[in-house]
Amino acid sequence: MSRVPNVAIDGPAGSGKSTVARLVAQKLDFLYVDTGAMYRAVTYLALKTAVNLDDQDALGSLAEATKFSNVRFCSSGGDVALWCDGANVTPYLRKWDVTREVARVAAVPMVRHCLVRSQRVFARSGGVVMEGRDIGTVVLPDAEFKFFLTADLDTRIERRALEMSGNGWTVDPEELCRQFIYRDEMDLKRTVGPLKAAPDAVVIEGTALTADEIVDRIVTVCQGRVA
Ligand code: C5P
Repeated sequence: MSRVPNVAIDGPAGSGKSTVARLVAQKLDFLYVDTGAMYRAVTYLALKTAVNLDDQDALGSLAEATKFSNVRFCSSGGDVALWCDGANVTPYLRKWDVTREVARVAAVPMVRHCLVRSQRVFARSGGVVMEGRDIGTVVLPDAEFKFFLTADLDTRIERRALEMSGNGWTVDPEELCRQFIYRDEMDLKRTVGPLKAAPDAVVIEGTALTADEIVDRIVTVCQGRVA
């Protein structure tokens, strides 16, 4: 019997990956894995324990020591939560200090090595929708379905601002813009696992599409073999 497929969804900050990946996972009844949350978790723990963010060895040791076997992502339908070393770290992951520093931490090769290893474990039996920057290229190069989402910068900022204000956060669009440009540049430029579309990914330019329309396209592509 063939394995249940995996779905890889990559793209830059604010391209709608999280919303889309979550909905696709619900529709296919797959597990949703947000790899950005894992990089955010290491960043949060580094800030909390005052690890020097210029010290790559210390960051690598922190990622290695973090019990990612305790990371839990609620599967389709439920709230998405990330547990780390026995604690629910979800409420801290989107805070500004974490968002500001995460791309620096994610550029450290040893951090990436540790997290990629854990991400592959989540996907080893198939049935996962995993979103990030390097899923189709590095984490799951054999994923049966790969998508790369893009949208223009203004649209990405507008969507993220709406999402944040909907969650009761105060939004400064200029700060958001600076942060997106900085993170995208860091993610594109790094030597290990840069933000990149896999050559066999379906690229979806989503500026003029709603999340539901993007989800429909992805599910339509996947459906044949998932059903
Ligand atoms: O997806 P999200 O914006 O939450 O990701 C936060 C950061 O984590 C990204 O800006 C990127 O630096 C890093 N990341 C990564 N590789 C992934 C997922 C996220 O480097 N697979």
